[in-house]
Amino acid sequence: SREWHLVSRPVGAPEPKDFDMVEVPVERPGKGQILVRNAYVSVDPYMRGRMSSAKSYVAPYELGRPMQGGAVGEVVASEAEGIEPGDHVLHFFGWREYATFDAEHATKVDPEAAPLSTYLGVLGMTGLTAYAGLLRVASFKEGDSVFVSGAAGAVGSQVGQIAKLKGASRVIGSAGSDEKVRLLTEEYGFDAAFNYKNGPVHEQLKEAAPDGVDVYFDNVGGDHLEAAIARLNRNGRIAVCGMISVYNNTEPAPGPRNLARLIQTRGRIEGFLVGDHYDLQPDFRREVGAWVRSGELKYRETVVEGIENNLDAFLGVLRGDNTGKMVVKL
Ligand code: NDP
Repeated sequence: SREWHLVSRPVGAPEPKDFDMVEVPVERPGKGQILVRNAYVSVDPYMRGRMSSAKSYVAPYELGRPMQGGAVGEVVASEAEGIEPGDHVLHFFGWREYATFDAEHATKVDPEAAPLSTYLGVLGMTGLTAYAGLLRVASFKEGDSVFVSGAAGAVGSQVGQIAKLKGASRVIGSAGSDEKVRLLTEEYGFDAAFNYKNGPVHEQLKEAAPDGVDVYFDNVGGDHLEAAIARLNRNGRIAVCGMISVYNNTEPAPGPRNLARLIQTRGRIEGFLVGDHYDLQPDFRREVGAWVRSGELKYRETVVEGIENNLDAFLGVLRGDNTGKMVVKL
């Protein structure tokens, strides 16, 4: 079985020399364990954080040990009660072809109910992030105007569409290519969208949101956040989901220079972690599952094939190679 190890901690942008793909024997499951052949593994921006040794909400990846991440696969051997070979499970031992682990870390998923890859994306962690971040953290309500950055990505594309489905007055997205911008307005129903590489975010947002924004869902940080504060309406809310523009920084990024606007707007900025919102999972599965089945909520996936390309898929997420959820198919 092939698996990926972190061999040195990246400084700035991660480089291939920081990683190694190694061949290891497949372990037979012990009592209470299962052996899973991974079918799809996830690559996510937060993994950049785990490559650093800095203390955070998840432990850093250990050097010379297999990396981890979301994955779905088929059980090929089981010594655990209630899980049979042929079952499909969602678990956290990605970045490898085969994984042997305690069955308590596995959640059964139904490949008949939805394509396996969607349990990593639109119906999985990134989907719940969009749902919880918009509806709970940003206290979205009907009639709000919503701006979301990273809008063609896994989380962002779902934020914008959920906002529309729940009666947003206007949804604005930003993304890093003209093609992605077209997708937002032509397929996903965004009212306006812009390519942040085409000009200052501040000016492009002003044009796209002439009446300001009630909610900003931040996936990017930096000048996007400052521009959103500048356009925030009274009682506006900013949910800080991610700040991908600073993940490779070696020095702390400068903060927004206009925070004082929060006073006059009575604005609120709140960071969140999806892990605190799994109580919403039943509502999320029911509501978003129905929208996906009816086609009201659209999603794309960027599928990279082969464990040997797992690293490049991850680096691709940081570069913006993906539209929708980036997954690796094994
Ligand atoms: P995406 O599918 O959105 O992929 C990341 C995207 O970020 C890329 O496609 C790229 O698109 C964009 N990007 C990369 N660099 C920059 C930059 N410098 N400026 C602006 N955009 C950039 O990933 P996810 O949907 O999985 O994650 C989106 C955000 O949500 C991330 O910040 C992530 O860390 C965060 N997150 C937070 C969670 C939480 O619990 N708080 C849980 C899950 C995700 P483009 O072509 O548009 O530049």
